[in-house]
Amino acid sequence: MDIKPLVRREVVSLSAYEPEDYDGVRIKLDAMENPYPLPEGLRAGLAGALAEVSLNRYPDPEAMRLKGVLSEYLGVGAENLVLGNGSDELIGMIIQAFGGSPGIISYPTPTFSMYGIVARSMGQEVMELPLTADFQINFDGWLRLFSVRRPKVIFISYPNNPTGNLFDPDRIRRLIEGCFSIVVVDEAYFSFSGESFIDKINELPNLAVLRTLSKIGMAGLRLGVMAAGRDIVREVNKVRLPYNINALSQAAAEYLLKNRAAVSEQVSKITAERERMYEILSGMDGIAAWPSKTNFILFRVRGAGKIHKELKARGILVRNMDSPGPMKDCLRVTIGTPPENEDFLANLKELLLEK
Ligand code: PMP
Repeated sequence: MDIKPLVRREVVSLSAYEPEDYDGVRIKLDAMENPYPLPEGLRAGLAGALAEVSLNRYPDPEAMRLKGVLSEYLGVGAENLVLGNGSDELIGMIIQAFGGSPGIISYPTPTFSMYGIVARSMGQEVMELPLTADFQINFDGWLRLFSVRRPKVIFISYPNNPTGNLFDPDRIRRLIEGCFSIVVVDEAYFSFSGESFIDKINELPNLAVLRTLSKIGMAGLRLGVMAAGRDIVREVNKVRLPYNINALSQAAAEYLLKNRAAVSEQVSKITAERERMYEILSGMDGIAAWPSKTNFILFRVRGAGKIHKELKARGILVRNMDSPGPMKDCLRVTIGTPPENEDFLANLKELLLEK
């Protein structure tokens, strides 16, 4: 039997996520991971915490202990939190709770691809707003669009992936106050930017803030956090599957957050290294780099596709963002350890000289 006619219309036109081929990659700078392994001093303690988990039982559906630790870490009430299997899952839950049939989901572009992918897979229309040439949001133009077609949910990556910059916080605030949509401020890179809307969640009832543990050394756990006022939390909880955070991830995140000094040290090293990398990249002939408030740097180099391939042949993987439009000839490099960054820079220099 041909199952094609049974596939939902929105799904037919999608393609599955294509994992990178990591064969031969010795330096992985493509996915905004923390390059440092779990600190030696935490390994035995973590193993002990995991050994205590009752794997024969379902996990705590409310993850109350973990939410307690997160509440103290984030400075918001546990009742203001919903956890997701990565913030990817939360993006889906928010659209499930607030999208329409169909609803409109809006976000500036270029940005994190999942907003559009998840929205389309859920049958939503997407309203994309191109960023200006210097990667800023044209807020007036955006609000004008909303007076014609009103989005149900707006996503703002703050700072923005892949451009690395923050947007004007006063204009974001006015947008939240002046629109009739749920506004999701995605702060996946907060640890590297220090800028946040999280203290506004009880003032602004249509604001939801997303955070993740992925960029600070726990990508393997898959733990994302939504912080919002109680009304948003109540609605999102209705579509959340009860056991979406597995017991091992709950226990590991709880342990690592309680012992986060070592992780914070790694974050400081990455932030310092980002500044050093930016100085070097922006001083290189043939490279235009953008300043970043994240743990990656976007840069333009002529023949980016070829450079990407040749770096990969040398075992160094960065992300190829090259496509017609504002990302023409752009590559995105995640900040690695100092030796990894040196290796990347030396190889990039060689490739530029060969051209
Ligand atoms: N938001 C942004 C802006 C991101 O760049 C990413 C990861 N690339 C995510 C969310 C997803 O993070 P998670 O690992 O928590 O699903």
